[in-house]
Amino acid sequence: MKRQKICIIGGNLTGLVTAIALSKLNCQIDLITGNVNHNNQSNRTVAISENNFDYLDKLNITKSLAKEMWPCSTMKLYTENKTEKFSKIFELKKDHKNKKVFYMTENLKIIKLMTDKIRKIKSISIKNEKISEICNSGLLKSIKINNNKFKYNLIIVCAGNNSSLVKNLFRDQIIENSYKEISITTILNHGLLKNNTVRQIFLDNGTLALLPISNAKTSIVWSIKENMKEKNNSFLKKKIKFYAKNYLNNIKFTTNIEYKDLKFFIRKKCFQDRILLFGDALHVVHPFVGQGFNMTLRDLASLEKILNKKINLGLDIGSSDILSEFSDEIKPRNFAFSIGVDFLKRYFSLKKLRNNALKILNRSNFAKDIFFNIADKGFKF
Ligand SMILES: Cc1cc2nc3c(=O)[nH]c(=O)nc-3n(C[C@H](O)[C@H](O)[C@H](O)COP(=O)(O)OP(=O)(O)OC[C@H]3O[C@@H](n4cnc5c(N)ncnc54)[C@H](O)[C@@H]3O)c2cc1C
Repeated sequence: MKRQKICIIGGNLTGLVTAIALSKLNCQIDLITGNVNHNNQSNRTVAISENNFDYLDKLNITKSLAKEMWPCSTMKLYTENKTEKFSKIFELKKDHKNKKVFYMTENLKIIKLMTDKIRKIKSISIKNEKISEICNSGLLKSIKINNNKFKYNLIIVCAGNNSSLVKNLFRDQIIENSYKEISITTILNHGLLKNNTVRQIFLDNGTLALLPISNAKTSIVWSIKENMKEKNNSFLKKKIKFYAKNYLNNIKFTTNIEYKDLKFFIRKKCFQDRILLFGDALHVVHPFVGQGFNMTLRDLASLEKILNKKINLGLDIGSSDILSEFSDEIKPRNFAFSIGVDFLKRYFSLKKLRNNALKILNRSNFAKDIFFNIADKGFKF
């Protein structure tokens, strides 16, 4: 029987990992990566939960993923009690039975590992093109590249949440809200230290995370009100250095500062007529919990399982029955998870309530385990 064809549009984290995971199925994959140079500039980093680390490890992206990702075993949360003075209000330790709070990596590093892996997979063909339209082609869907038409059983769009392709296809079926905040990201080099503790400081002007990526490098994610964008880079760098020097020494900036508008975003519908939305094209949550890509990996594990079963039965993987089955599995849990993150974000802006809640939570290992399991595995329904 002729192998079914999948087209994956998007060459960043979601598109690449989706191509690798689905290459295990008996099908042919075209990966359309868009503007690759644009992907190669970011200084962003990503925290991967223990459960998702295990999932990625099984994809054999590299010989030893444990060597490529940085384990973080402790998380400490602080609040600004007096101006620019912090006190610890919460601590979570996971350094037993190989459990970690999460693993950190630079986006560029994991993108390179995944791209190298994909080049070795015969069933994936990479096309560095930008797609402007998806058309009908009899029973199938097609895209056009240099006047050639390519037909597919299933098109998975991993084009992010600002793509005009997605906006044109799915119009306004979304729940969206701007936080009127931006994230500021950069990477610091510093003196050597045992660097396995993630720190998040609830400042009066936003949330600053110090995320270790090696014993001499820490990634910074600072979400602040959008009017701070007017401040110049040297002002922001001075502030970051001032906050970070409580925990790091000999600080040097290795990358520029990168900005991103922050919003809450979830699509009401994840598919239509052989087209499936994935990754940030489907849902975006505030980065203070480091869960956007983790949610996508959980979606991917579900998709892989469902498509594998259906392909083995000889069924058409782009049929609406199969895409509905996938949607029914992920939609309720993604909705609950995204709303939960949004609620936490809003609740945590109320300083007194947040500090009291975290101090109470800090006294109960049972409650900590519940929160850790949700962050690690998502909701199980
Ligand atoms: C500051 C910050 C920190 C974060 N930290 C974490 C974290 O710690 N843990 C976590 O799990 N998540 C985190 N996230 C979320 C995570 O970064 C995103 O979920 C993830 O990067 C989304 O990747 P994506 O591939 O879906 O989308 P994008 O990164 O937007 O990529 C879309 C790709 O599609 C391509 N494209 C667009 N249109 C077309 C087209 N028409 N044709 C071809 N290609 C096209 C683009 O060029 C791009 O390469 C964070 C987010 C932010 C902003």
